[in-house]
Amino acid sequence: MKKDKTYKPTIGIEVHVELKTKSKMFCGCPADHFGASANTNTCPVCLGLPGALPVPNVKAIRWTQLIGLALHCKAERESKFDRKHYFYPDLPKGYQISQYDEPLCTDGYLETTEGKVRITRVHLEEDTGKLLHTTLEGEDVTLVDFNRSGVPLVEIVTEPDVKTGTQAKEFCERLQRIVRYLAVSDCDMEKGSMRLEANISLGLDLGYKVEVKNLNSFNFVGRAIDYELQRQEKLLAAGKLPRQETRGWSEKQQKTETQRYKETAADYRYFPEPDIPPMRFTSEELAGRRAELPELPDMLESRFLKDFKVEPKYAQVLVSDSRLAEVAEAVFMEGKKHGFAPNALAIIIVNKKINLKNRTPKSLIEILKKQKSEKVQDKAMLNRWITEAISSLPQAVVDYQKGKTQAIEVLIGKVMQLSSGRADAILLKAILHKRLGGKRA
Ligand SMILES: [Zn+2]
Repeated sequence: MKKDKTYKPTIGIEVHVELKTKSKMFCGCPADHFGASANTNTCPVCLGLPGALPVPNVKAIRWTQLIGLALHCKAERESKFDRKHYFYPDLPKGYQISQYDEPLCTDGYLETTEGKVRITRVHLEEDTGKLLHTTLEGEDVTLVDFNRSGVPLVEIVTEPDVKTGTQAKEFCERLQRIVRYLAVSDCDMEKGSMRLEANISLGLDLGYKVEVKNLNSFNFVGRAIDYELQRQEKLLAAGKLPRQETRGWSEKQQKTETQRYKETAADYRYFPEPDIPPMRFTSEELAGRRAELPELPDMLESRFLKDFKVEPKYAQVLVSDSRLAEVAEAVFMEGKKHGFAPNALAIIIVNKKINLKNRTPKSLIEILKKQKSEKVQDKAMLNRWITEAISSLPQAVVDYQKGKTQAIEVLIGKVMQLSSGRADAILLKAILHKRLGGKRA
């Protein structure tokens, strides 16, 4: 292999999202397994006992379609469940009910600042149980908890369009935001209701890919990918081909480590689930599903920028949470009636200058109106704003000290912005002059 070859980072992401339906995917057991005592939310179906019949959770199917549609996918008219066979102690039936060649949704995309990431498919499956490695009476044992067995799990698979760790991180963050807006999952990385994996290589033509697991936070995703790209490039530059394998991210050592080698693709002996009839959806049904989509964060963000002229950094924070965005919009609308600029209100909300809890937009604006009419003469408060203004506008200070006395106006303007126009102008000017150590203009 030539050393001057430039490699093309080729990264695909797989995301698993646990749906927060009341019951599990194929039985009536509660799906909320977090914190429940082991093996209390189980029945013959999710324990995989012989003769038990699965009954699909219609809500989970609809929610999967919603996720697909929010990711610009096509919701398929026909879909089915398949059995995916493998042996592992957390899988009581010896197979997982999943979807193979007819997923619920296909061909979507998600836009990132570094370009579009195409979505290959969005499908629905059941989660597995959980293994617990522990010590009992001095002996190392592995226990199984089946509370999670059969919880609806959505898998989102991308094309290998991701190029950097930063882009992967952004993709995952945006995906989390979208799914949370749909209110179909908490997408909590710590509780495992959102799980990430990445397939990384430096070119499809090289014939290998490395799967990285243990990506328990968005930051880990970015770091693991950057590390892996460097590691693979070094190997290739030395004339070696990276091994096809599964690696795990070690946060402690800040590197990926081999978990297991994969010589050939696993054979899961997929076949159609005989106990569940194939699904068919009418175009009316699918149109109805599309109509259920709420306004999604990207659309909302661009509306905040365009219609309300909110600065991008504040708009981003506001749309990070659908409830916060809803409150912000209501406050903007109410504020407009009283001459408040949405951006000034956005700053107040983002910086939590007023506690929003148990307050209506109307009462919030009332408070602001009252505050606006009272000039702040508290020196400690004025000094705090001045400190913030000085540190954000160091050039104005330099200019002022060089003799450009009008530079003080820039700082006054900043304090006025920070104080929403409430700083007492005369007092402010006096303190500023004193702190800048200049002569009076
Ligand atoms: Zn059950």
